Amino acid sequence: MKSLCWIRRDLRLHDHAALSKALERGETSIVFIFDPHILDKLDDKEDKRLTFIIDSLKEMEETLQKKGSSIHILYGTPEEEIPLLAHELKVSYVFSNRDYEPYAKIRDQLVAKKLAALNIEFELFKDTVYYEKNEVLTNMGGTYKVFTPYKNKWLEKFESQGKIVPTYDCPLNGLIKFENKKNIIDFDWYKIIGFKEAPVLLPGGSKAAKKRLKTFADKIDDYKDARNYPAIDGTSQLSVHLRFGTISIRELVQESITHRSDGASTWLSELIWRDFYHMILDVHPEVEKVAFKPVYDNIKWPGTQAHFQAWCDGQTGFPIVDAAMRCFKQTGMMHNRLRMIVASFLCKILLVDWRKGEKYFAEKLLDYDLAANNGGWQWSSSSGCDAQPYFRIFNPYTQSEKFDAEGKFICIWCPELAKAKNKQIHHPDILLFPDYPKPIVSYDNNRIRCLEIYSVVKGS
Ligand SMILES: Cc1cc2nc3c(=O)[nH]c(=O)nc-3n(C[C@H](O)[C@H](O)[C@H](O)COP(=O)(O)OP(=O)(O)OC[C@H]3O[C@@H](n4cnc5c(N)ncnc54)[C@H](O)[C@@H]3O)c2cc1C
Repeated sequence: MKSLCWIRRDLRLHDHAALSKALERGETSIVFIFDPHILDKLDDKEDKRLTFIIDSLKEMEETLQKKGSSIHILYGTPEEEIPLLAHELKVSYVFSNRDYEPYAKIRDQLVAKKLAALNIEFELFKDTVYYEKNEVLTNMGGTYKVFTPYKNKWLEKFESQGKIVPTYDCPLNGLIKFENKKNIIDFDWYKIIGFKEAPVLLPGGSKAAKKRLKTFADKIDDYKDARNYPAIDGTSQLSVHLRFGTISIRELVQESITHRSDGASTWLSELIWRDFYHMILDVHPEVEKVAFKPVYDNIKWPGTQAHFQAWCDGQTGFPIVDAAMRCFKQTGMMHNRLRMIVASFLCKILLVDWRKGEKYFAEKLLDYDLAANNGGWQWSSSSGCDAQPYFRIFNPYTQSEKFDAEGKFICIWCPELAKAKNKQIHHPDILLFPDYPKPIVSYDNNRIRCLEIYSVVKGS
C-alpha cells in the first residue's frame, strides 16, 4: 500500500511518528506545502522563520536525494493540494502529525473530508507533544487548569510507564524513488512564495539541533540557576528547533532523564509547561481570541500607541526593557526572563492591552508558537489559567539589578549606557546620560494606576 506523509511543523526524518507509520505500511512519498493562508499574514518578506524552514527542508532533501528520493514541495492551499497529489500518486493513506492550533484543526478536517471523498484515509498521530490532552487527566477525568497538579500527574504517568521514552524508526529505504526538478535545493522557492532569504542567525536542520542539544547537555546540571540570567548562555535555545520539529520532544525528554540533577528536572518541568500550554490551546481554543478568565476582558486599557511604539523600539527609558526589545527586534530571539519582564511591563506599567504585545511577538519571534506565546502573555497579564496574581507587578529596576547585576546584557544593546556604573546602569540619571531616553512613564505612579484598572477583576 502506498502512503503520503505530509510534514508540517515536524521537519525531520528521524523519530517521526507519521513518517514511521507511513514507512511501516509500504512505499512512501513525503510532501511539504507552503500555505498562503499562513504566508500571506507575514508582512516581513525577509522573515527569518522562512529561511529556517527552507534550510531545514534542504537538509532533509540532501538526505533523501542520497536515497534516490525527494520531497514534493507545493505552494497552495492544503485542502486543494493534498487531495490532488494523493490522487495523482495513487496512495491509500495520508499520514501527518497532529497540530493543536485552531487553524490547523479546521484545515485538517477539510483535508480529511476531501480525501474521504477519494477513498483515501487521513490519519493523524501524536508527535509534537509528549502527552496529549486525554493522557493527563484529573482523578475526576477532567483536564487541568493549574500547572503544578498537571505536572505531578504528568510525572506520575511517566514514572508508571517506567520512564521509557518511545522512539519511532524511520527506515528511509521504503521511500518512493523519483527525480524532482522542483526540489527545494535547485529550484527558487523563495521567488515562488514571494519571500527573500534572510541572514542566518540560527541554522536550521536536525544536525544543528542535535549539536545544540549536545552543547546544552554539558551544562544542564547548572540550568536551575543559570536559566535566569540573560547574559549567560544557560538555556538550551532549542525552542526554534522544537517549534519546527527539527528535533523531537521525545529526544529532549530522554536527555533530561539521563541526568540526575536539579538542573535536569527543572528543564523537564519547562518541557512539561510546553505540553501544558498545548493542552490548554487544544481544550480551550477560544484563548486565541479572549482571556482565559473572561472577567479580565472587562479591563479598559488606557495605554497609548506612542507608548506601545516606544516599547517595540526599545525607547522606554527602562534599560532592561529597552535592551531586551532592541535585541528582539534585531534577532527575533528573547530570553525567557526578559519575555516575562517586557510582557509584564507592557500591560502592567504601560497599561497597553496584552494582545498587542502578543501580536508583536507573533510577528517577530523565531520560536513563535501560538500555544506557548498565548500562554506566556496570558500568564504575564494575569488573565490566563494559573497566571501570576494581578497585583504582582514586576519591578523592572529590581529585576534588572537581580538578573543582570553588572549590566552585561544591557550594555550590549544600550551602548548609550556603556559607561554607566553600579545602579546607574539599571536606573540611569538622565543628566549623566543625555543620549539615553528618559523614562516615558513613572514606574511608581503607573503601578498604582495598574492596580486601579485591574480592580474590575477583584474577587473573581
Ligand atoms: C510572554 C511570553 C511569550 C512566550 N512565547 C513563546 C513562544 O512563542 N514560543 C516558545 O517556544 N516559547 C515561548 N515562551 C516561553 C519561553 O520564553 C521560551 O520557550 C524560552 O525562552 C525558549 O528558550 P530555550 O529554548 O532556551 O528554553 P529552555 O529554558 O531551554 O526550555 C526548554 C524548552 O521548554 C519549552 N519552554 C520553556 N519555557 C516555557 C514556557 N514558559 N512555556 C512553554 N514552553 C516553555 C520551550 O520549548 C523550550 O525550548 C514565552 C514566554 C513568555 C513569558
